[in-house]
Amino acid sequence: MRNLILFILLLLPGCQASPEKQGTETDNETDSTWVAAPGIDSLPTPAEALPAPDQPDYDTARWTDLARLDTSIFIDMRYATTDNFVQEKMYECGRCILRPEAARAVAAAHRELQRQGLALKMLDCYRPHPIQWKLWEKVPDRRYVSDPRKGSMHNRGAAVDLTLADSTGRELPMGTPYDFFGPEAHPSYQALPDSVLANRALLRETMIRHGFRPIRTEWWHYSFGGKNYALSDMLWKCY
Ligand SMILES: [Zn+2]
Repeated sequence: MRNLILFILLLLPGCQASPEKQGTETDNETDSTWVAAPGIDSLPTPAEALPAPDQPDYDTARWTDLARLDTSIFIDMRYATTDNFVQEKMYECGRCILRPEAARAVAAAHRELQRQGLALKMLDCYRPHPIQWKLWEKVPDRRYVSDPRKGSMHNRGAAVDLTLADSTGRELPMGTPYDFFGPEAHPSYQALPDSVLANRALLRETMIRHGFRPIRTEWWHYSFGGKNYALSDMLWKCY
């Protein structure tokens, strides 16, 4: 009898929500890697506590989880916390997913910095297109958020927001916090201590050497200059 009850329990549907497509009608690529975001009531998972799954849980021809490539890169995805400019958690959990070529280039830049006792710390990587819409709904201002109708390089998996850290993960001074909107964050801004200018220059030169392009307004943002990647709605799993 006990076995019968157990058998019936096993047949009952699970309490997990079934995968839902949260896409838009724009020109997103058709990804076969749709996964359900966990319920909104689930507890936040600190990025550093994420166990790497034995097997990649995404289409490896299209994506790479940076943590699988190099575990020594610091990952502090700010949109998985409330420590960001909208002060709201936008990702269920923090994973730095990128197009494979961009991920390999980041890892190569990190290895180069490691020889100087430094490291890269990732602040944002691929940003799913539905999250771009969520950001836009909060801040519909092109000065601060890319218009999701056009999409950004983050929505294509080909941009990174990052900073320099020492070997323990402590961030080097860069003159402004991440997502600071003002001239002080512009790479051309010079009224900063020499040490800050040197840190910005080291990050910029290293990233450019590995195929990334800076932008005019944010010292932390670099876009990968490789292929022209499509926008994507792929959502990563949380563990
Ligand atoms: Zn960015």
